[in-house]
Amino acid sequence: MPLVETYQAVRRKALDRVPVPLWRRLVRRDVISLYYHMISDRELPHVSSIGSYKDEVQFEADLAYLSENGHLLSYDELRRHRLYGRRVPGGAIHITFDDGFRECGENACPALRRQAASATFFIPTDFIDNRDLIWVHKIAVCVDRVRRAAPETIAAVIATINGRFGAGLDRRAALVAWLNGLRQIHGSEIERACEALGVDPADYLRTYRPYLTQCQIERMAADGFTIGAHTTSHCLLEELSHPEDIEREIVESCRIIADITGRKQVPFAFPFHGFGVDRALLADIRRRHDVIGLIFDTGQLRRDREFVVHRVPADRTRHCRPGESNMPFLLRRAYADEQRLL
Ligand SMILES: [Zn+2]
Repeated sequence: MPLVETYQAVRRKALDRVPVPLWRRLVRRDVISLYYHMISDRELPHVSSIGSYKDEVQFEADLAYLSENGHLLSYDELRRHRLYGRRVPGGAIHITFDDGFRECGENACPALRRQAASATFFIPTDFIDNRDLIWVHKIAVCVDRVRRAAPETIAAVIATINGRFGAGLDRRAALVAWLNGLRQIHGSEIERACEALGVDPADYLRTYRPYLTQCQIERMAADGFTIGAHTTSHCLLEELSHPEDIEREIVESCRIIADITGRKQVPFAFPFHGFGVDRALLADIRRRHDVIGLIFDTGQLRRDREFVVHRVPADRTRHCRPGESNMPFLLRRAYADEQRLL
């Protein structure tokens, strides 16, 4: 191993030994917020090829660790703290979920209830009741198909894609990379890839029912969980060219969630991230629209405006062991990253 890589590996190992309580004293944060997407024991094509996710036992282990080593905060407690300076207990943690998967209601909520814990669930509103498959999930299903397909099928799909888009693909790995490089604006490429691979989104929706129904969302809200908005179409807001489009995505999705839950104000989370979205613009949009609560981003432990809460990703399963949460590992990595030590 080259010297630089050896040094990096040794440093990483040393950082992984710093206990979380010590990190907490070194990098002061009033509240840490986490974000999950999926909790399931099943392999699900629309998520599996995007990244790992925890099963129910692993999630229970996270909750046990978090409630023993911190204080699980509700959204309302977090909001009062951020906007009105209310004090929160030491080790305050707020749990969130993105994307509105049905497993949020079926697997995450029962586990949270057993721990008497609260959480916030962010829903992209166009997909409630399984009206459509989110574009990233269409791509994920295609990638899953490509990984399983016979060589002849791959050759035929590559010929179709090259013929239509001049993509210059030559093998399975190149096709996967091309699929993973598609964005929401590449609607016709995604559609053609689905056709070529025999992915029928309507059929997939009927078979898997990937997302929450309005009825499930209402029940979760009635059970005391907080429901937030996650845009209407699950778009990357920094890619929208006009501030009015950003405003529409935020306001419209918040209004839809407010109508469903009967809440006057609901939180909002950026799909992917909101790094390129101007905070002064967000402040102005919030000032003009009472329906928008706190705004959640994905910058781990980053500090931001008082109404922006950054979150640490919690889906990764690395270092998960039977009956043991990998949360200490994930938090140590977030602290080290915040100190630019990784
Ligand atoms: Zn999302």
